[in-house]
Amino acid sequence: MRESPLSPDRIPPAETTFAEARIPSGLAGWFASLSAGQRRWAIGSLAVAVLLAGAGLIVDAWLPARTQAPIGLTVALTVGQVASALEITGKGLARELELPLDAPKNKPLQELGVPQESLDHAVEHILSHTSGLVKYFLFAALVLVGLVFTVRLGRPDGSPATDRRTWYPRSFFIGALVVSVVVCGFLLGKSPNPMEGVVKVFKALVGLYPDPLVKALAFAFFLGLAAVGNKLICGWACPFGALQELIFTLPVLRARKGKRVPFLISNGLRGLLFVLSLVLMFGVVGGQKGFVLYHGLNPFNLFDRVFETAFMLGALIVTLLLSFVLYRPFCQFVCPFGFASWLVEQFSWFRVRIDPAACTNCGACTRACPTQAAADTLAGEGWRADCFSCTRCLNVCPVDALRYGLAGPTAGEPATRGAPPQPQDGS
Ligand code: SF4
Ligand code: SF4
Repeated sequence: MRESPLSPDRIPPAETTFAEARIPSGLAGWFASLSAGQRRWAIGSLAVAVLLAGAGLIVDAWLPARTQAPIGLTVALTVGQVASALEITGKGLARELELPLDAPKNKPLQELGVPQESLDHAVEHILSHTSGLVKYFLFAALVLVGLVFTVRLGRPDGSPATDRRTWYPRSFFIGALVVSVVVCGFLLGKSPNPMEGVVKVFKALVGLYPDPLVKALAFAFFLGLAAVGNKLICGWACPFGALQELIFTLPVLRARKGKRVPFLISNGLRGLLFVLSLVLMFGVVGGQKGFVLYHGLNPFNLFDRVFETAFMLGALIVTLLLSFVLYRPFCQFVCPFGFASWLVEQFSWFRVRIDPAACTNCGACTRACPTQAAADTLAGEGWRADCFSCTRCLNVCPVDALRYGLAGPTAGEPATRGAPPQPQDGS
């Protein structure tokens, strides 16, 4: 490995480690230092984001979401009648009522032993998954804002690398996360969300929803946003991802935040859960189609404040507590969309790019990165760990070798100056 030409005092100090959550700062100064062209980008992208949100509201007004149960759903009705009123399949309703999926569709529910209370509970749960389209527009708007910030705005035009600590102000990112949690989470409820986007495709394929094509389109929408820029949908828009990121960013327990779990382990567990969920869903194991492994682990229930079991609430509390010390534990270890989008992000258009001619392998970016992604990029790995487009690595490089953008003539090539430093645990 070639020696770094930098003296140790020019190598980014400890504040650039991801373990130390950076306090929001310098938003006004950063904005004032943007060039006229960048300000046009800022205003233009915010205007488009607002227009997208407005378009979502208009579309929702045209296609109002059903948020109330159709009147008169009683156990005197058959499975088929209730399912039709709720616009789901008979199998979907049977699963909610804990009946066999092949329960007779023409028998009244009371004859199948379903009490009214269970029906009311199932209806409430089914309706909690029903939402308007406005959230899709908001997700797209947040991803757009994240993309323009990471690609065009984070670094003021003409700003020298010595000013790098003023680049990519955390307060901008945190502002987007707060919007995601408050609006896409608590105000608009749990559905839709990227995780559900994956699960519902497979539920539709086993007959729990009547419209597999619509579910596939929703899944494709989320995957598309992940492919535009590395997991931008997770990093900037998913409300539960945003909540974990915000908790991790709180300046508490700093000394304990430095631990990274090797990606092989976290992704292996996440992939195993995904395969197991498919095996159970399609009845390959267990002999009963339609078992949803993620149901009991779904942290998005928080946004509806409805937990069917104590286990669900417990799993959420554990995840939130872990988020104080571990970066996005649900995303890294469990989320099926985290896994699916990891496959897609390997081919994303925009991502962190490294200029191997400039890189000195000082390791500042790997120390700043909360995942293994920066180390993988530095090493030129073909398949990299999750990158949540969090921008932490983009203002630490002392030789300005990192950008977030499309591949250039040299960018994206592996660094060839020897093995990269191993990520250090918050040191
Ligand atoms: S990986 Fe995290 S951020 Fe992405 S969909 Fe899942 S919970 Fe949301
Ligand atoms: S490589 Fe990705 S995840 Fe790591 S610090 Fe950079 S932007 Fe964040």
